[in-house]
Formats: sequence, C-alpha cells, structure tokens
Amino acid sequence: MTSARDRAEETFRETFGAEPSGVWAAPGRVNLIGEHTDYNDGLCLPIALPHRAYAAARRRDDDRLVLVSADIPDSRAEVELSDVAAGTPGGWASYAAGVLWALRDAGHEVHGLDVAVASDVPIGAGLSSSAALEGCVGAAASDLFGLGLLDSDEGRSRLAEVCMRAENVIAEAPTGGLDQAAAMRCAEGHALLLDCRDGSTRLVPFDLDAHDLELLVVDTRATHALTDGQYGERRSACEAAAEALAIASLREISPSELESTLSRLDDEVQRRRVRHVVTEIQRVRDCVEALSAGDFAEVGRLFDASHDSLRHDYEVTGTELDLVADTARAEGALGARMTGGGFGGSAIALVRRGTGDQVAAAVARAFAEAGLGAPQHFVATAAAPAERLA
Ligand code: ADP
Ligand code: MG
Repeated sequence: MTSARDRAEETFRETFGAEPSGVWAAPGRVNLIGEHTDYNDGLCLPIALPHRAYAAARRRDDDRLVLVSADIPDSRAEVELSDVAAGTPGGWASYAAGVLWALRDAGHEVHGLDVAVASDVPIGAGLSSSAALEGCVGAAASDLFGLGLLDSDEGRSRLAEVCMRAENVIAEAPTGGLDQAAAMRCAEGHALLLDCRDGSTRLVPFDLDAHDLELLVVDTRATHALTDGQYGERRSACEAAAEALAIASLREISPSELESTLSRLDDEVQRRRVRHVVTEIQRVRDCVEALSAGDFAEVGRLFDASHDSLRHDYEVTGTELDLVADTARAEGALGARMTGGGFGGSAIALVRRGTGDQVAAAVARAFAEAGLGAPQHFVATAAAPAERLA
C-alpha cells in the first residue's frame, strides 16, 4: 500500500506538474486523560500518534491558495488569500486555507501556496485528523515563508494557536486547542501535560513497553450528526456556569470547594457538567503522578473514572463508546475510556502487552452482537510532533 507521504507527493506532481519544495508532517493524537477540559482553562494529557497528515507544498508568486487532498474525491479548491473567511473556501479546504488566514491575521507575512495533502489519520474518528491537516499546512507555511515557528517550543505554541483559530474561525468548529497543541508540542516517548490556562507544558515520560503494557485504540466508526451542536452546547453550559459563579473559568474551582460551589448552582444539569470538569482536571494531575510513580493500576482506575464521569455527568459517550469501555474492562484492561470529543469516535484501553488484539476482538464480537458496524483498532505509541521531512 502506498504511504500517505508518497500519496501527498504523487498528488502534488499530478496536480501541479512539478516537484514540491518539501514535505511536512503533523500527527493525530489520543488524549490519555483530561477530556472537555481544554476550553475550561484546564489540564489535558495527549500523546502524538504515528499516524500523520502530510503536506507536499511550494510557494507561488501570487496570493492564491491551490489546495488538493489525495483523501477526498474532487477535492481541488482555489481561493485568494484575501477572500478566506468564515465558511470560505468551505468544506475540507477551510481547515488548510484557514491556517494561512490565521498566520496573516497574527501579523506574519504569508502569500500563496500550492499544497497537496494526504493523511493516514482516520478522518472523523476523534483522533484529530483536522489538527493534523492544519499542522502540516502550518509547518509548510512556516518554513516556506521563513517564519521559523517550528524551531522553538514558543514558536510551536504560536503555530498551534494559529491552527486553532483556523479551525474555530474559518472552519467554524469550536474546538478548544488540545488537538493543535498535541500536533505541535508533543515529543516521542512522552505524554504532553498541557495547561490550557497559560499554555505551559511539561513532558511526562510514557513508555508502556517497559511496564509490559500497551495502549489499545478502538475507532468505533460511529459518527453522530449532532456532534457539533452537542459540543457547542457543553461549552456554553460551562461558560454559563462560570458566569453564574462569577469566575473566569471552571479551572478556578478547586476540588476541595467543589461541593460548596455546586450548591450555588440552581441547574442540575449545569452542576453535573461542572462536576465533570473539576474532577477531570484533578484526574489529570493524579494521572501524571501515577505515571511518574509507575503505578499503572492507578492510571487504569483514573481512565475508568474519567469515562464514567463523561458518561454520567457530561453525557458525551453513547452506546458504542460505552460498549468499548465495558468490554475492554471485562477482558482485563487496567482501564478504558473514550478519547476526544465523544458521541462516537475512538476509545483507549490500557492492556497487558500483547493482548491488544485479543481485547479488540472481544470488542468486535460485542459490536456484532449489538448489531453495530465493525470497529477498527491499533496499538498506539507516543510519536513525534510536526516536522519537515524533506
Ligand atoms: P477529527 O479531527 O476527529 O478527525 P473533525 O471533524 O474535527 O474530525 O475533522 C475532520 C475533517 O477534517 C474532515 O471532514 C475534513 O474536512 C478535514 N480533513 C481531515 N483530514 C483530511 C484530509 N486528509 N484531507 C482532506 N480533509 C481532511
Ligand atoms: Mg478534529
């Protein structure tokens, strides 16, 4: 099978009749724990996946963007940089064009590009194919226009911000920044502890192999049409609760004052949403401590507690994700939880080394028995962030 990188380069040659100036890559991610915390100024803990989006690109001498994706039929899109706006060019191309728009909006001098992308991050599976796409285009633009944003963590942090704005403003998807930070700032063999309040990070060694463990990722293949609306609704509930409590964000609530804070909220649904966010942020801290201590039984318990909180308090799991978590636990996983925004997408399970396929087979049987479509799976390792390849 042709690699995604090769497909990006071949598509570039076919489309533009020339060699690209270079190829850039950016990874998808799984978030180990800390879900729906990013837009609450909270903590999260992603790893970058070996799955990546690739951009083959070259500069143009005008301000036009010509974009093509090897993964989508009839994908070619052309737009003047000055015409890029909310909903324009629309569809997949908004994610790519949005990055150039956001770079220019942040004061960087950027011009037109010819870009061909291809990705082996499953699209729409909650593994952040969108941020991988933004990330490889952002990396290409940074290098081709001499912005140097890949050269330091500070630059990478700014590029992550740019990619998030592209997705929020131009693709009009209200994501919170975790995905883009993971694509830009993770490191091989490590999880990234990201503090979304001030953007600070810490790399946490993540070597399951040394502990005879592995991380199974199950893509449920379930997509829910309501995802966007539901995601926005959760964000609004958190913002409304913070406003009612007269605080800048739910991050301000310490776990010790959770009960007294909840008693000040009239709305029962809001109380549950807040409880998830506050307990989830604490679970990230606890998980980092457990990882550092090599206490993987505790990491597993925290995965379980996170999923249960997302299931009952935040209500973003759904039939498929619950079935993965329940089945993996019954098959001996140390812990299992949904990852990403929820309502479908993917789940992770911490399992003994060499048992991932067996746990995944049990999940597949459970799906078949429940009349659900076949899920897909792979064993994940903590891979490298966005980079130039050639
Ligand atoms: P996720 O990030 O979980 O995969 P999203 O809904 O956030 O799901 O992003 C998926 C969207 O990103 C796709 O619908 C498409 O518009 C765009 N996208 C991602 N990867 C590619 C690609 N390789 N080619 C074209 N568009 C892509
Ligand atoms: Mg996404």
